Amino acid sequence: TAPELIRNFCIIAHIDHGKSTLADRMLQLTGVVQPRDARAQYLDRMDIERERGITIKSQAVRMPWQLGEEPYALNMIDTPGHVDFTYEVSRSLAACEGAVLLVDAAQGIEAQTLANLYLAMEHDLEIIPVLNKIDLPAAQPEKYAAELAGLVGGEPEDVLRVSGKTGEGVEELLDRIVHRVPAPVGDPDAPARAMIFDSVYDTYRGVVTYVRAVDGDLNPRERIQMMSTKATHELLEIGVISPEAIKTNGLGVGEVGYLITGVKDVRQSKVGDTVTAANNPAEKPLGGYEDPKPMVFSGLYPIDGSDYPTLRDALDKLKLNDAALNYEPETSVALGFGFRVGFLGLLHLEIVRERLEREFDLDLISTAPNVVYDVTMEDGTEVKVTNPSEFPGGRIKDVREPIVKATVLTPSEFVGAVMGLCTDRRGQLDGMDYLSEDRVELRWTLPLAEIVFDFFDALKSRTRGYASLDYEPSGDQAADLVKVDILLQGDQVDAFSAIVHKDAAYEYGVKMTAKLKEIIPRQQFEVPIQAAVGARIIARETVRAIRKDVLAKCYGGDISRKRKLLEKQKEGKKRMKNIGSVEVPKEAFISALSSD
Ligand code: GDP
Ligand code: MG
Repeated sequence: TAPELIRNFCIIAHIDHGKSTLADRMLQLTGVVQPRDARAQYLDRMDIERERGITIKSQAVRMPWQLGEEPYALNMIDTPGHVDFTYEVSRSLAACEGAVLLVDAAQGIEAQTLANLYLAMEHDLEIIPVLNKIDLPAAQPEKYAAELAGLVGGEPEDVLRVSGKTGEGVEELLDRIVHRVPAPVGDPDAPARAMIFDSVYDTYRGVVTYVRAVDGDLNPRERIQMMSTKATHELLEIGVISPEAIKTNGLGVGEVGYLITGVKDVRQSKVGDTVTAANNPAEKPLGGYEDPKPMVFSGLYPIDGSDYPTLRDALDKLKLNDAALNYEPETSVALGFGFRVGFLGLLHLEIVRERLEREFDLDLISTAPNVVYDVTMEDGTEVKVTNPSEFPGGRIKDVREPIVKATVLTPSEFVGAVMGLCTDRRGQLDGMDYLSEDRVELRWTLPLAEIVFDFFDALKSRTRGYASLDYEPSGDQAADLVKVDILLQGDQVDAFSAIVHKDAAYEYGVKMTAKLKEIIPRQQFEVPIQAAVGARIIARETVRAIRKDVLAKCYGGDISRKRKLLEKQKEGKKRMKNIGSVEVPKEAFISALSSD
């Protein structure tokens, strides 16, 4: 297709504002999906996505659309909607010239609406504001059209009103996309350059790479080169998705499609990388490439120690489809053999864990997630800490922790509550704007560690569910952080070490020692449970001693019964972990780590 007849766009929206439903409707109206094949959320292919109603992997579909005499090709590029995947979102946006900014007509603008809009503006996309769900009785199109127009410019009357559910207004929207979104521009005679905005592993075909061609063209059977690594591959197949893969004899300027080279690992086909022709390579890659950077780490351990090899194989397999997943073996005194795994964020962690349990039938325990700390010692050595129990002792000069820029949108009556929460979490207010009389945007700088755990739940409960949150990484800053260790009879229990702000150390120590006291069975001697910062004990509990004599229950000389009891006790011991001389059932650690 000639570039003048191509339109590349994405739909950006706050979660649940109806992006997937609208996408489904567009696929039907353009005849790409026949009504009998339609299933809800056609683009969300992974089971977990469908169940959770979120989009993890972006996809691209080509839709024919006739306007006047001209047959246009509209490429709809789906973007993941969650903050964990901001980098993927930004690559998908870079593949487009326009964005449909979709807002629920009964809800109005939310935090992700803004965050995505700002990203789209950074990529100079043409923004088409659209109100969705106008079929809802609670819809307030007049009010929110004014809000949207105020945000993106233009008149409230120009804000399109649609219903992805009934289809009302969707044809007009497709027409508007043709009118308003600029056609792609590129140099057809230059060496080929195409940007990878997604790559997925398929069991049968190997890695399927989604690309947006910018200059030149890519043709089947030629050799291509990945510009970040210089690795070359034979192009086995190239084509477009509409809605299944359709082979073509190449992709030219502005086209969006897929390519297959036979590689088996998505890390050989990295999101953001530039594909060029091996025999006539471009000089400069397209901009914006970054290696995925894990932000949150957690230890993953099989509950049954004999599952360790299965866990290792499962991680190896998942990695084929998840370039951001990284891990290395780790041993814990309390939990045995496992892995320290790096994730893009908490949702990413949950998804990986769920896939491991579901697709590989594993029972796992994960340690409390932590961020990465940069520690500088007084002698100048630098240590990256991804596991709190490895936080260095000795003379520390400073500790840096990752921070984020967060946007909170809230009805004005909850401004005080939001301020309180963010201040408690060591936040710094950067600015505040009234979007309308009763909606406020608050911008904060917050330590990532303070928001990755329960921040979102706390925000929701303090604002009765009305506030929304979005954030993006923003470098790091020095902070007054200490490591709290938990000791059983003087021996450190590695899985419970945590890095916390100095002011929160005491609270953490008291909470953990109390919790462990409940869980650790009595031994034949007294067991002190202590929390310590360095050599200083900050909290203490004691498990009192008992004398447990299993044979006391036996009277008379029933030898075989005695033997059975002793045997049973031995069985029980196998599941025990020794921390120094204290025996603790593995289950105790597991329950201590799982609650809250
Ligand atoms: P996404 O998270 O933005 O992809 O949102 P979904 O497309 O999954 O929609 C979220 C919810 O809103 C689902 O329950 C949809 O059925 C519903 N929904 C989506 N579009 C409309 C609409 O136009 N009208 C109504 N009444 N409901 C809608
Ligand atoms: Mg969706």
